[in-house]
Amino acid sequence: MQRIVLARRPTGEPTDEDFRLEDAPMLVPGDGDVLVRVTHMSLDPYMRGRMDDAKSYAKPVEIDHTMEGGAVGEVIASNHPNFTPGDFAFGMFGWASHGCLPGNQLQKLDPAHGPVTNALGVLGMPGFTGWFGLTEYGKPKAGETLVVAAATGPVGSMVGQMGKQLGLRVVGIAGGPDKCKLAKETFGFDECLDHYAYDDAKALRDALTKACPDGIDIYFENVAGKVLEAVLPLMNVGARIPLCGMVAWYNAGALGANQQGAKDQLPKMWRSILVNRMHVHGFIISDHYDRYPTFLADAGPRVASGKIKSVEDIAEGLENAPRAFMNLLKGGNFGKQIVKLAD
Ligand code: NDP
Repeated sequence: MQRIVLARRPTGEPTDEDFRLEDAPMLVPGDGDVLVRVTHMSLDPYMRGRMDDAKSYAKPVEIDHTMEGGAVGEVIASNHPNFTPGDFAFGMFGWASHGCLPGNQLQKLDPAHGPVTNALGVLGMPGFTGWFGLTEYGKPKAGETLVVAAATGPVGSMVGQMGKQLGLRVVGIAGGPDKCKLAKETFGFDECLDHYAYDDAKALRDALTKACPDGIDIYFENVAGKVLEAVLPLMNVGARIPLCGMVAWYNAGALGANQQGAKDQLPKMWRSILVNRMHVHGFIISDHYDRYPTFLADAGPRVASGKIKSVEDIAEGLENAPRAFMNLLKGGNFGKQIVKLAD
């Protein structure tokens, strides 16, 4: 089997030298284990955090260990009563051609939920994150205005589509005209602003003011940086911010000094939160998997009927995972980033 290990910890943006593709002995399932031939693996922004040796909500990947990540694949051997060869399952198999985990840590895929890749995106962890963060902490009410950045990614596109279905005005922020077109024409956003088209937070804020004539009631925070700086002064009294991610700052390390939009902004931002009596709620989706069945029951039929759409960006081959990941952190992905390893 093959796997990609963390060769060293990156400084700033990851580079090729931080990863190593290597051959490894085939995994052998023990009692209760299931062996899977991975067909598709997920690439997600959180993986950048696992490369740093900094205190966080999860342990870092050790040097020379397999990069962490979720994947789907076909069961090829099973010592667990719930799985038989030929089943498809999701598990945290890492960046590898094969995975072996106890059957009770795997999710058997239901063919009613569409292609197996749905378990990595729209009906997997990212879709669940968007659905949960919006409904639980966004507390949406029909007629309100919702702003979401990284609007065309698997989290943002779920947030925007659910927002529309709950009767909100939804304004996306995305990188480039093609992504903005996708947000409006495929995902049904009312408006979408290209953050590259504005030199600084002030220019982006002026455009947002026009796009959100009634102010902003919910800002679903995925990126931070310039977008956060632009959005905060436009928030209405009692506004909510589900704080989901801050991808613009991930390459700066946990508390990097040169983070875009961070310098000297703290007093202003803190004041905005105070005077507008905002509710800012950070969350980590792995704490909330008791709600995953509720999510599947709600979103599954919406996906099956085409009411919620998804777009995937598929790289080919395990060896191309590091490049696809570096690209994702820079916004080069067009939809949910997946790596295809096998049919
Ligand atoms: P995406 O597929 O949307 O990829 C990340 C996107 O971030 C890029 O495509 C890019 O979109 C945008 N981006 C990158 N750099 C910048 C920048 N400097 N300024 C503005 N935008 C930038 O990712 P996901 O949908 O998988 O994840 C979205 C967010 O949700 C991430 O922050 C992620 O860490 C977080 N998350 C949090 C979870 C939790 O439990 N709290 C769980 C899952 C995800 P564009 O080109 O449009 O700018």
